[in-house]
Parts: sequence; structure tokens; C-alpha cells
Amino acid sequence: MTKKNNQDYDLICVGGGIMSATLALLSKLLKPDLKVLILERLDDVAQESSAAWNNAGTGHSALCELNYTPQNKDGSVDIHKAIDICTQFEMSKQFWSYLVTKDFIRKPENFISKVPHHSWIMGEDNVNYLEKRYQTMKQHYMFNSIQFTKDIEQMKQWFPLMMHGRNAEEIMAASRIERGTEVNYGALTKQLYRILETEFNTKVQCHKEVMDVDPDTDLDWTVKVKDLKTDSIDHLEAKHVFIGAGGGSLLLLQKVEIEEKEGYGGFPISGEWLVCKNQDIINQHNAKVYSKAGIGDPPMSVPHLDTRFINGKRELLFGPFAGFSPKFLKEGSNLDLFKSIKFENLHSLWGVFWHNLPLTEYLVKQLAMSFEDRMDALRTFVKDAKDEDWEILVAGQRVQTIKKDEFEGGKLEFGTELVSSKDGKITCLLGASPGASTAVKIMLDVMKKAFPEVLDTSEAKVLLSEMIPFYNAAIDENLFNKQLEKSKTILQLY
Ligand SMILES: Cc1cc2nc3c(=O)[nH]c(=O)nc-3n(C[C@H](O)[C@H](O)[C@H](O)COP(=O)(O)OP(=O)(O)OC[C@H]3O[C@@H](n4cnc5c(N)ncnc54)[C@H](O)[C@@H]3O)c2cc1C
Repeated sequence: MTKKNNQDYDLICVGGGIMSATLALLSKLLKPDLKVLILERLDDVAQESSAAWNNAGTGHSALCELNYTPQNKDGSVDIHKAIDICTQFEMSKQFWSYLVTKDFIRKPENFISKVPHHSWIMGEDNVNYLEKRYQTMKQHYMFNSIQFTKDIEQMKQWFPLMMHGRNAEEIMAASRIERGTEVNYGALTKQLYRILETEFNTKVQCHKEVMDVDPDTDLDWTVKVKDLKTDSIDHLEAKHVFIGAGGGSLLLLQKVEIEEKEGYGGFPISGEWLVCKNQDIINQHNAKVYSKAGIGDPPMSVPHLDTRFINGKRELLFGPFAGFSPKFLKEGSNLDLFKSIKFENLHSLWGVFWHNLPLTEYLVKQLAMSFEDRMDALRTFVKDAKDEDWEILVAGQRVQTIKKDEFEGGKLEFGTELVSSKDGKITCLLGASPGASTAVKIMLDVMKKAFPEVLDTSEAKVLLSEMIPFYNAAIDENLFNKQLEKSKTILQLY
């Protein structure tokens, strides 16, 4: 049965993850009379990448992730990307703090906790790199609280579980930034949707799968929606559509008639964690410890040992181990990858395949890993890890973006990519990194494209500087430290 719905919306968000939640809430806070609808195909929000167990819960602010501080050929360390990521995460913290001060969120401890962030590395070259990185970061006000050590006794204090059975002969070093965070993005996403429902009368419609988005005669978009419980089809009108469907975004973008979609493809990468079952061991670690990806391995393959807080319980998780699955969503179809291959993106896909053979090799090796191989990988971190204390858990599905490249035909991107029509009426988010941590900055970028008139009002400017003081601000040491302290107090990150 097909029906035409007469109600039209200012904004329809496809997908009930953290991105749509953030965009919808920002929009309603800045202009409460906007009519916003969120459509989700599953039976609840935050079930895919935004779910707590599907991601690593790191508040990415470049305190420990070495892929944000590459080493230049001359040996110096470039921290530009780290500054950028750190700024973006602080913007997220500022927005969440604002929600707490307005009493929209009562218990920030339900989604964010302080967990120190460490980088840990073995071997002489790596140790030299980490020391250079420390010296460079120490000079910048965003990172001047960084500590560095080569001393095993100090590391025993920082992460004792990883130091069992080691001796001073092993060449290793570590850095630490105390103010790191662990975030339950699933709990946060649910809180954001609860605010939308209770404060702004904007409820997510679940079991609604968006099948297509077509241009309409009156400059609106028609969103074709299938009710997965009744199989009925509805057509909704919207002035703006945001495709925040996570791994499902690419397949939907390919159906939208805008030229900007051309050449995009996707490469799905699945993930698995080792999760600790032994509470005694879980309690011995209070840290996020990131190491370095192997040479030629993709940045998302960096192994890390993370303290997590999920549903009020302390957890310990190691990984992720990457793998291959043709699905674009955890709850997706085995035909997803096949369906995404089009005549227009064949050239990009071939270019990526041809120029990334080491990635294919890496994924094949990861796929072939047995439980015992994974435990061996864990034992590079925790020497005395026992098989019976750990189990495998499937993580979220990522779709790495493939885009056209003049020289190589196609290029594999590891970051997020905002694709939009020229008039900004359709926006679509592809890719998954740094992800949920930077949702606020990314969604402000969506608003700039979709609703510049909303952002440009004097009321919105005042409200934005209260909600997100770093937005459009010239950030200096004073402002940074003042806001860092403020978020720390409000979010109770002691
Ligand atoms: C293994 C892993 C580790 C990660 N670690 C971190 C981390 O430590 N820190 C961090 O900040 N980020 C991390 N990320 C990234 C982060 O999880 C994502 O960037 C973020 O959750 C994406 O949110 P989203 O709203 O775009 O997508 P999702 O949360 O995936 O939500 C998309 C929603 O759209 C729905 N949907 C799909 N298609 C349709 C359709 N046609 N119609 C209706 N609904 C649809 C889906 O069911 C889903 O609910 C990680 C991701 C993975 C996979």
C-alpha cells in the first residue's frame, strides 16, 4: 500500500545514531519551531555504530592515538591534526556540558568518565619517535600536561596489568595524559533522543526504513519510507534531508539524484574485540592504552587496551581486530557491497583495490586469525593473559569511504566525509573516524550547509557562543584552559 503524507518537514534525519541525534538537537535548540523528523529502521535508537559495545568509547582528542601525530621525513613530529581533533572533542564536551547546565542531562557520569590516555610503544625507533612526540606536544598548551617515561617502575604505576612479568631489559616507553575520557556513546545518544522527545516533542519513528530520496517539483525532497512492521510505503516531504544512516548512508546516497555523489564507493570492515570476563583482572587496569599500527596497516587497526564503563559496570576490552564482511551495517545484508558497485564508481573501486593490496593482505590475515592468534596479540600487551579470562565480541561495522582520485583512480579515506548538494538541501555523512567524538563539530558543518540562515541570526550567534564557546572563536591558551576547566567541573571529570 502506498500513501502520500501531506505533512511536510523542515528536516528529515535518516538514522537513529549519534549524528542525527546531535543534528536534530542542535537544530531544535537554535530554532525550536523547525519541524524535525528522525527515521530509524531498527526497533530502537543507537543500535549500530553508536551502541556502547560496537565502538571503543574513546573520547578521541589525540591524547594517545599515534595516527594523529605522524613523523615527518626529517624526524620531527607533526601535531596539526592532533590540535584539530582535540579542539573538536572539546566542542563536543562543551555542548554536553551545556545540556547539563540546562538540566536536560542530570547524570553526566552515565555517559562520560575520566580514564587516563596513554601511548605505549616497544623498540628503539618507536621509543625515539614517542619521545620526540612528547617534546613537541609538551610545548603546546593543549597537551602540556603530557608525561613521558622509559622507566618500567613508572609504567607499573600507570598500567600495572601490562607490566606483569616484564623486566627493565625490554625497550619500551609510554606517555600519559591524565584528562582522557571514556564515553558510552550509546547511553549519550539515548539521552539526546530523550531530550528531543521530552523537551521538543520530537520522537524518533522506529521500524521505518528510508528506501529513496527524490527531488520534488516544489524544491522539496520526497522521502520514501517503508514501515517494516506493516510493509506499507509512505512518502514524506522535507525541505532538508540529512542522511546519517552510518554504514547505510552510501547505498542511500547512490539513489539520490545529485551530481556530488559521483565516484563514491565503500569498503566494509568488520571488527571484533577480546572482552575480559574476570573482574579481578578488569579491576587491575584503569587506562586507555593505544599502541602503533603495524607498517602498512590501516589506522583503525591500532590495538588498544581500554577500560570501559558500560551500563554501570567496569569492563576491559582489547582490539579491534579488523575483518571483512560484505555488510554495510551490522544488521545489514550480505548484498550491500555488491549493490554499491555501480558503473560510475567502478574506476574509483578498481583504483583503491590496485593501490591498496597491502590492506587486502592485512584483512585476509586478520580474518584468518584464530582465537589463539588473537590471544597472542593480546599477550603483547598483557603477557600473562589466560584464554579462559577472555571472550570474543563482534564490534560495529565500518564502511571506509572510497572517492575519486585524479592520480590513482580511487582513494581510500579513513576520516569522515560530508557530501552535500550545492544548495545544502541534501547532506550525507560517510566514513566513521574520528567519529562520535567529533559529532558536534561535524553536525555544525551540516548546519552551515543546510541552515546557514539559522546560524546567521544574532540570537543563534549568542546562543552558540554560550553552548559551544569554541565555535567560530579564535582559540588561545586562556580560552582553552578556561573552557577545559569548566567542562571538567560540569561533566564531573575528576
Ligand atoms: C569498531 C569501531 C570502533 C569505534 N570507536 C570509536 C571511538 O572509540 N570513539 C569514537 O568517537 N568513535 C568511534 N567509532 C565511530 C563511531 O562509532 C561512529 O562514528 C558513530 O557512532 C556514527 O554514528 P552515526 O549516527 O553516523 O551512525 P550509527 O550509529 O551507525 O547510526 C546509523 C543508524 O541509521 C540506521 N539506518 C541505516 N540505514 C537506514 C535507512 N535506510 N533508513 C532508516 N534508518 C537507517 C541504522 O539502523 C543506524 O541506527 C567506532 C566505530 C567502530 C565501528
